[in-house]
Amino acid sequence: MQRVYNFSAGPSVLPEPALQKAAEEMLCYGTSGMSVMEMSHRSKAYEAIIQGAEALLRELMGIPANYKVLFLQGGASSQFAMVPLNLIGKTGKADFAITGMWAKKAAQEAARYGQVNKVASSEDAVFNYIPELDKSKFDPDASYFHITSNNTIYGTRFTMLPDTGNVPLVSDMSSCILSEAVDVSKFGVIYAGAQKNMGPAGVTVVIIREDLIGNALDCTPTMFKYDIHADNGSMYNTPPTYAIYILKLVLEWLKDLGGIPAMQKINEEKAAILYDYLDSSAMFKGTVVKKDRSLMNIPFVTGDDALNDKFIKEAKALGFDNLKGHRSVGGMRASIYNAMPVAGVAALVEFMKEFERVN
Ligand SMILES: *Cc1c(COP(=O)(O)O)cnc(C)c1O
Repeated sequence: MQRVYNFSAGPSVLPEPALQKAAEEMLCYGTSGMSVMEMSHRSKAYEAIIQGAEALLRELMGIPANYKVLFLQGGASSQFAMVPLNLIGKTGKADFAITGMWAKKAAQEAARYGQVNKVASSEDAVFNYIPELDKSKFDPDASYFHITSNNTIYGTRFTMLPDTGNVPLVSDMSSCILSEAVDVSKFGVIYAGAQKNMGPAGVTVVIIREDLIGNALDCTPTMFKYDIHADNGSMYNTPPTYAIYILKLVLEWLKDLGGIPAMQKINEEKAAILYDYLDSSAMFKGTVVKKDRSLMNIPFVTGDDALNDKFIKEAKALGFDNLKGHRSVGGMRASIYNAMPVAGVAALVEFMKEFERVN
């Protein structure tokens, strides 16, 4: 059985060395005599795994000492509630940039706990650009300002952060974390479901500045309080042990590769291969405003639904899988996360050229 080039938006491709290591250690981890899946989360062996994962993430992202790293469950979607439950109580208000479906969902959830101010939206053009953020529309009294750094469905990303002054910036980085250099100190909270760029589904990483912890609304369920998880080293209850273990293997792979600066260069190279072709093709077109193009998720269309379907079907038969676009955009989408090799993108473009020639 041969592995395909998997362009899935998530869960998505993982680095082969990480999967191989997991396979080797599946039945017996180190000298423990058991699989990581079978271990007590309070065991010495597991403690080393979770602490190792945190240390690696801190090193790779340059996370300052006054930030906590939490390994939680419930996906990024739970953070749509957890962020307001823990942060909005300060003034009862929060600012949101609406750049896609995930941002909309985050704002909708926050509106259950406080007053949401939509600073800008790009919904008028199916979210194919990042709207201009006009500072005069920012609420200086907001408890936080929420953005979605990379919009997985539409293929846009913020290339410049809004200047929010003393208002903490909160970002959903589910589909771009670890893909390019980020100055963590510019953010109050960064959160990301692991299954796009870090590991398997089941673990959600939250990076939070310490002074933002401990102000949860009274109604906040215990499991949704950042202080509970921070005070217990993400071990208030059983963490998603195996997902955190795989995350650690992925971080080790990333470190071996040269860390985030090296990864960013590779990601820029991959994205350029596909965008350059899209810009020169007479058949395929990118759907996003050029200056806001994502490095991770690249939607494209032919302009003809039947031709799109034919392309997706033929691509799949040749081992280019999961190229169907999100139902709200249609067409195709190639998600080229960290673990997608340059060769995978190059091979896809070769096939696209051949498809264009024949059709
Ligand atoms: C996938 C995704 C989500 C949803 O993540 P879950 O872990 O399924 O809750 C939220 N935000 C962004 C940007 C995503 O890409």
